[in-house]
Amino acid sequence: GREVHLASRPAGRAGADNFAVVEVPVPEPGPGQLLVRNVVMSVDPYMRGRMNDVKSYVPPFRVGAVLDGGAVGEVVATGAGTRRQRGELVLHGLGWREYAVVDDASARPVDPELAPPSAYLGALGMPGLTAYAGLVDVAGLKPGETVFVSGAAGAVGSLAGQIAKLRGAARVVGSAGSAAKVQRLYELGFDAAFDYHDGPVRESLAAAAPDGIDVYFDNVGADHLEAALSALRVHGRVAMCGAIAQYDTDEPPAAPRNLASAIGKRLTLRGFLVSDHDHLRDEFVAEVGGWLRGGELRYDETVVDGLENAPAAFLGLLRGDNLGKMLVRL
Ligand code: NDP
Repeated sequence: GREVHLASRPAGRAGADNFAVVEVPVPEPGPGQLLVRNVVMSVDPYMRGRMNDVKSYVPPFRVGAVLDGGAVGEVVATGAGTRRQRGELVLHGLGWREYAVVDDASARPVDPELAPPSAYLGALGMPGLTAYAGLVDVAGLKPGETVFVSGAAGAVGSLAGQIAKLRGAARVVGSAGSAAKVQRLYELGFDAAFDYHDGPVRESLAAAAPDGIDVYFDNVGADHLEAALSALRVHGRVAMCGAIAQYDTDEPPAAPRNLASAIGKRLTLRGFLVSDHDHLRDEFVAEVGGWLRGGELRYDETVVDGLENAPAAFLGLLRGDNLGKMLVRL
């Protein structure tokens, strides 16, 4: 089987030469282990941080070693004493390789009758829970409020905007990086949307939400956060989910310059990690699963074929090539 290694750490922007596709022997599962043939895997922005040699909430990738990330695969062999059996689909954390040896105890069963396997990496998986937890737990969204979501055509953002509407937001505004993405946001039920290339974010947001916003779901940071700080009303909240504008560069961001406005407006800015919100999982699966079955919540996927194209898919994700969740099909 093949796997993708970190060949070198990026200097500035990441590039194809930072990755290597390597042929390795297919491993044998030991007791309590599963041999899984991956069928679809997730490509995620946080991986960019792990390519650098810096301490963070997840350890950095090692140069010369295989990358990892969320994946769904089929169990093709089992060691002694496993709960999962051959032929079952499982969700696990050892993507970026064709074959993975996964601990049976950490493999989550995937029911393809309920939703396609890829949904467990998107709307029904980590990005969906991120959107849900950010609005419900972190921002404390209340019916009737106005919400701004950046990165709104991506996996987390497109779900966050729709979930905000479904949970009673009066107005939801989204920003994204192209006219086609803006068009898609209107189709998904956003009340207003803009392409952040069309002018200063602060002006576009002021036009889209002339009465201000109550909640900002931040996927981008930098100029988007600065614009949101200026649009937020008294007692507004920011769910700090990501800051993708500053992931693929060594330069510190030039914005926000207006952080002190949080004082007079009594704003709350709260960073969060989805891993701390697992207590919401059952509620999330029930509520979001219901909306998906009922067709009230929709999701997009951008699928790239072949493990050898996974590095290009990841670099494309950082550039905004994806609509909805970026996936690699093996
Ligand atoms: P997306 O599907 O949103 O893909 C990333 C998108 O970011 C691209 O499609 C691109 O869209 C946009 N982007 C790239 N560069 C810029 C820029 N300079 N300014 C504005 N937008 C940019 O990825 P995810 O949904 O997986 O993740 C979204 C955010 O959520 C990320 O910041 C990620 O780190 C964060 N996250 C946080 C979690 C947590 O636990 N806190 C968990 C999961 C994700 P465009 O064309 O619009 O530019």
